[in-house]
Amino acid sequence: MPEFAFKSDLHTHSTESDGVLTPAELVSEAARLGVSVIALTDHDTLSGLPEAISAGESLGITVIPGVDLSAEAGPNEIHILGYFVNYANQFLVETLSRFGCERFARIERIVIRLQKLGLPVQMERVIEIAGQGTIGRPHVARALIELGYVDSIGDAFDRFLGNGRAAFVPRQQVPAVQLVRLLRDSGAIPVLAHPLSTGDITATLLELIPAGLLGLETYYGEYSPDTRDQLRAIAESANLIPTGGSDFHGVGFKEGRDLGSAPVPPECVERLRKSWETQQERSS
Ligand code: AMP
Ligand code: ZN
Repeated sequence: MPEFAFKSDLHTHSTESDGVLTPAELVSEAARLGVSVIALTDHDTLSGLPEAISAGESLGITVIPGVDLSAEAGPNEIHILGYFVNYANQFLVETLSRFGCERFARIERIVIRLQKLGLPVQMERVIEIAGQGTIGRPHVARALIELGYVDSIGDAFDRFLGNGRAAFVPRQQVPAVQLVRLLRDSGAIPVLAHPLSTGDITATLLELIPAGLLGLETYYGEYSPDTRDQLRAIAESANLIPTGGSDFHGVGFKEGRDLGSAPVPPECVERLRKSWETQQERSS
């Protein structure tokens, strides 16, 4: 791993969505691992940010407020990370709360499909597993593990929950351009997450850059050095800020996904911050 002046992780999840550490535990784990800049990017919610920021203040860790929004693109997924989100922005909070309701309805339909397949997963148990966080397929996967139908979250996605599998239900379609605009309009910096998941990076960028996309996740936990080089070249040619992060959900979740395993060069964090400050100045 390259040595940088400080270690960062700009893509992490807590119990406020499908991660296993609370926001405060996540920040304290970052401190233990020597990660000094962390972005909390939970799926469709800003609810963990105050706790993470306050833990960061106590422990001397910089916490960048973030979020991870999802759109579907045929068989592929487009995730848009937002950095420096304003968690007091009422419109953003209300829109995310609507996404949360849509998530809930989708998971109910997935549970019904599983029941029809003869797997008696109970929605009440999935809700319990999700706790207070935004509900998602990984919570259904954990319920399937408990019942002994699958060995791991990956196994649950491969057999039942992944796109095109027996219990798959597509999400409510929100065009990715709308997510980019939502973030820009609220003053946040939108970044295309794990770009390989889009299926077609060029087409995705051609659509999202005019909508206001400002960054490309380049130093992603699971990506090889070659892939990172290619993405860095794309980011440079498109004048996008290269970002990165582990996409941490919990210890031992997947190879390459440990907290702090995908730091970015400090100048990328600086470019993100500058870009946010420039936006702030323009809108004031
Ligand atoms: P949802 O947000 O309900 O659509 O679930 C998608 C989330 O599930 C992703 O953001 C990942 O965190 C997780 N996920 C997707 N595919 C897999 C997989 N094959 N193994 C483990 N987790 C996965
Ligand atoms: Zn993520």
